[in-house]
Amino acid sequence: MSNNRQLFLTHLAPTSDAPLLLEIESAKGVELFGKDGKKWLDLISGISVSNVGHCHPDVVAAVTAQASKYMHVMVYGELVQSPQVEYAHALTTLLPESLNSCYLVNSGSEAIEGAMKLAKRYTGRHEIIAFNNAYHGSTQGALSIIGSEYFRNSYRPLLPSIKHLDYNNISALNEISTETACVIIEVIQGEAGAVFPSRGYIQAVAAACKKNGALLVIDEIQTGFMRTGNFMAFMDENIVPDILVLAKGMGGGMPIGAFIASREIMTTLASNPVLGHITTFGGHPVCCAAALAALKVVTKLDGREIERKGELFRSSLVHPEIKSISGKGLLLGVEFENEEINKKVIAECIENGVFTDWFLFAPHKMRIAPPLIIEDHQIFMACEIILKSLKKVTSDK
Ligand code: PMP
Repeated sequence: MSNNRQLFLTHLAPTSDAPLLLEIESAKGVELFGKDGKKWLDLISGISVSNVGHCHPDVVAAVTAQASKYMHVMVYGELVQSPQVEYAHALTTLLPESLNSCYLVNSGSEAIEGAMKLAKRYTGRHEIIAFNNAYHGSTQGALSIIGSEYFRNSYRPLLPSIKHLDYNNISALNEISTETACVIIEVIQGEAGAVFPSRGYIQAVAAACKKNGALLVIDEIQTGFMRTGNFMAFMDENIVPDILVLAKGMGGGMPIGAFIASREIMTTLASNPVLGHITTFGGHPVCCAAALAALKVVTKLDGREIERKGELFRSSLVHPEIKSISGKGLLLGVEFENEEINKKVIAECIENGVFTDWFLFAPHKMRIAPPLIIEDHQIFMACEIILKSLKKVTSDK
């Protein structure tokens, strides 16, 4: 075993019993490069992060320029730092008018935590409604609302007053009441395996929230920034969230997240208690500069092209062992009969130069979420390797 692998196993906290242990030397565009000339086509973008591709030159230039001006200077919310201001202005210009105030944080989980606190403060209520098979993060508040008892169970007690409903079940929406502070939902459930609800469902959720004075919190951490073909997935649904939650693709590879609401809602965090929600590194200037560069790149992408590339994956991945392909744009889940086949195919793909994985709550589905700049010839090559790997695994059966 290489020295670095040994050191990794000794000094870095494990998240599973079987880490992949691939050693990465560099990454560029859609490719990851390892030791000894190994390379992989990246079909997962660091889990929907590298939408603009790895080490996009504009992002690298923005990071370099800002790092040489200033890095951290003061906790969030005190000093006027132009990378934060320019980013918040550029982002909110692309969103519905009511989403005009950004609270910048460092990660998706933190953005979810902030959204939950904001909804409680603004409504004066404490019940939160979330959905089975939803993933919102690993911190204790986010964990309390994720939709899997397997993941929640070992960490109890968690937050009280959380209700989980079945996703895409209109009648379950009766649970939303005047007691509800907010409903937190993904427009397309990522970790459930890229699950897209029936037409009209998200609108029904929005209507139930409105009727009961509950805030609608849309988690676009995985689906935002053109991943599903629109700037934000909610923009296909004819609704406007009260709070929008972002991270992952936002920073073009740098860590940043945000929860965004109207100025009126957001202002409740500023007093009683004063400094009731603060962060040292939230909206780090280098990350904001990266985010602005990434934003300029993603907004030039053509949503129809992203959808076409998704279709290309769908039409190329035809095999009797592939039961279905779910999702939208370039967030797709390739369904196999069971987890065992999927994990064998994934291992074989990695061996053959395609980097992919499974979904947290759908281990029988393979994730396809490449950088959005993937080219047709790379899609064909990736699909050929997936099919070859599948053939090998099924002939070994
Ligand atoms: N919400 C969704 C929909 C996610 O996919 C994720 C990450 N997979 C999170 C929240 C949590 O984000 P982070 O890992 O940055 O805390």
